[in-house]
Amino acid sequence: MENIEKLFGMLNEHAEKIEKEQDITLLEGVLDGLEAWLDGVVDFSQEGATKEDVRKAVQIAILKGMRKGSQPNHQMTPDTLGLLVGYFVEQIFADRLATEKIAMLDPAVGTGNLLLTVMNLLDGKIEATGIEIDELLIRLAAATADLTEQPVSLYRQDALEDLLVNPVDAIVCDLPVGYYPNEEVALNYELCPSEGMSFAHHLFIEQSINYTKDGGYLFFLAPSHLFDSEQSKQLHKYIQKHAWIQAIIQLPDTIFANRALEKSIVILQKQGQDFKAPKEVLLAKVPNMQNKQALAMFFEKVKMWREDK
Ligand code: SAM
Repeated sequence: MENIEKLFGMLNEHAEKIEKEQDITLLEGVLDGLEAWLDGVVDFSQEGATKEDVRKAVQIAILKGMRKGSQPNHQMTPDTLGLLVGYFVEQIFADRLATEKIAMLDPAVGTGNLLLTVMNLLDGKIEATGIEIDELLIRLAAATADLTEQPVSLYRQDALEDLLVNPVDAIVCDLPVGYYPNEEVALNYELCPSEGMSFAHHLFIEQSINYTKDGGYLFFLAPSHLFDSEQSKQLHKYIQKHAWIQAIIQLPDTIFANRALEKSIVILQKQGQDFKAPKEVLLAKVPNMQNKQALAMFFEKVKMWREDK
């Protein structure tokens, strides 16, 4: 904890100074601090600090910058969710990870916090690619990936256009939710509705499946109302045609500010000739994190599901 506090303190102090001196936002000040650290202009390093210490300190500084700036697309995936996604990646790929690395893609990588939480958890086992449309966020992701020494290739572009990425073993994505504005690009998708605008979160699911190997897995943080909207019938049909639903895990409502923002973890597996549909779909609710006994029962249920796969 001490390392995180010290590191955050120095980074934040630098960001606040630059914010005033250069009349920029605090978040831009954080980026300036990270890039200056990488260039050797400043040194925030702490002896004995781990990759997780660095990620967490940077994350707190970014969160503070985001709260002050409040841009609607500036949302970071919190640790609790990132760690849960990482836990499921670990469970599903346990056998392969014992002997080899996996290729991972986050098509809405934002600040990189979700991707880097998973990568730090499975340190040395993942080679990743991230896509992000927002320049400030992708630069924050690039700097944090460098500082945590994680191998991530990043591309700044609209993730729903063609990607220069080979199909991956695993997708992780905290889906951007809402309407997708580029109707011309949306026409390339099976999930483009015949009338009205497309949902970005639906197109992101289709695009993610496009860039997953047969038998690969997709771990989405998706709105809890995903299968409950006016376009959800088409989405369900599309998923049934191309993937198998492996698990739907409801997250504790206490994590979210209001019901409209509630999310679930949806795990899919891309269909392929050499693969079989799951025997059982895991439907579970993560209990309140304070309830240790209920939490232990939840992890036991996941373990039994995995062993039965
Ligand atoms: N997991 C990220 C993190 O930990 O910082 C947060 C992801 S946030 C919920 C969704 C991200 O998708 C935002 O950073 C937003 O800028 C990005 N995004 C939205 N539409 C996009 C598009 N068409 N192409 C690429 N990125 C997009």
